[in-house]
Amino acid sequence: MSKSNTYKAGRHFLQVPGSTNIPDRVLRAIDAPAMDHRGPKFQNLSKRILERIKLIFKSTDPVVIFPSAGTGAMEAALANTLNEGDKILMFETGHFATEWCQAAKRYRINVDFVPGDWRTGADPKIVEQKLLADKKHEIKAVLVTHNETSTGIKSRVEEIRKAIDKANHPALFMVDTISSLGSYNYEHQKWKVDVTVGGSQKGLMCPPGLSFNAISNKALEAYKSSKIVKSYWDWGQMLENNKLGFYPYTPAVNLLYGLNEAISMLLEEGLDNVFARHKRHADATRLAVEAWGLEILAKNPIERSDSITAIMVPKEHDPDNLRKIIYDNYDMSLGTGLNKVKGKVFRIGHMGDLNDLMLAGTLAGVEMGLKQSGIPFKRGGIMTALDFLSK
Ligand SMILES: *Cc1c(COP(=O)(O)O)cnc(C)c1O
Repeated sequence: MSKSNTYKAGRHFLQVPGSTNIPDRVLRAIDAPAMDHRGPKFQNLSKRILERIKLIFKSTDPVVIFPSAGTGAMEAALANTLNEGDKILMFETGHFATEWCQAAKRYRINVDFVPGDWRTGADPKIVEQKLLADKKHEIKAVLVTHNETSTGIKSRVEEIRKAIDKANHPALFMVDTISSLGSYNYEHQKWKVDVTVGGSQKGLMCPPGLSFNAISNKALEAYKSSKIVKSYWDWGQMLENNKLGFYPYTPAVNLLYGLNEAISMLLEEGLDNVFARHKRHADATRLAVEAWGLEILAKNPIERSDSITAIMVPKEHDPDNLRKIIYDNYDMSLGTGLNKVKGKVFRIGHMGDLNDLMLAGTLAGVEMGLKQSGIPFKRGGIMTALDFLSK
């Protein structure tokens, strides 16, 4: 196999769990002249986006769009609703929950960070216990990472909502859906989430650079009494401008062209079909991993993510060496292990604009790489996946 460092023929396989493949339709939409972001043409486009993005969150609540990485919207959720010294409840499900916790601590928010083993999701029972014990209602918010992208673990958001209700506790409920939104079911309104955080570059099939907050009435009430200093992230001026389709500063106009197209694509396919496609690809991936005799990091089958799978390699082997072999030989990028699971896992992203043959190619690349890496495994995971996909 040649290792040319100049031209590589064919398409690169971008199978990291975000950024994901950007469909041609989205790329073509972005490739258009800039426009006056204070003019009527932008206003129409922007209003259409702000209305239709709500369908993706399954909600009628307003959604604000920041020109930023997802981390910006995570920060905005904190800065707009809380106060210094507030107590919040969070779960150590992995790297991204840890990052959100760190951001809260930097705002001098007092985080009860329930330790985790990075193999399980946030536990609804613990939520109920902690909230029941909090007789004085000192806990101001419960924060959960819906899809922990570093571990491939899905937390049971709907059940956590039920636990909050069972405890009859007034805490706000905030959820990071950056790597689940547009990939598997999420219901901002039905699950009474107060702030939902999203990002453009994962299930929404856009380039990185846009982030979202869907905001409930209860969160807007909290905003009124939040004294954390904010400017760029301030919901007030954003919502005020958004009423007419405008922004308080220059919006990421061309990314919004892309988002508008991506929303159309998700709605054309139908969200239920999008979710079924992701589930099917996740099932095929999991079947391949089992057939290889490797272990999925997510312990509980019901908590396995439909958008990304993290796969453990035996202790004496290096998953980043496997990733390098696959990158060099087959021009495919897979996700590395982050933080506490660095050197222990590699990750296959199977979210966004993906079809059966793209997934088959991905799994074939992993199997070929495994063979070359010296990692002990059983051959045939790819055949198991193909049989499943062609059933
Ligand atoms: C990717 C991701 C983030 C971080 O998003 P950035 O755009 O890199 O800031 C946060 N949370 C989750 C769950 C993610 O998947």
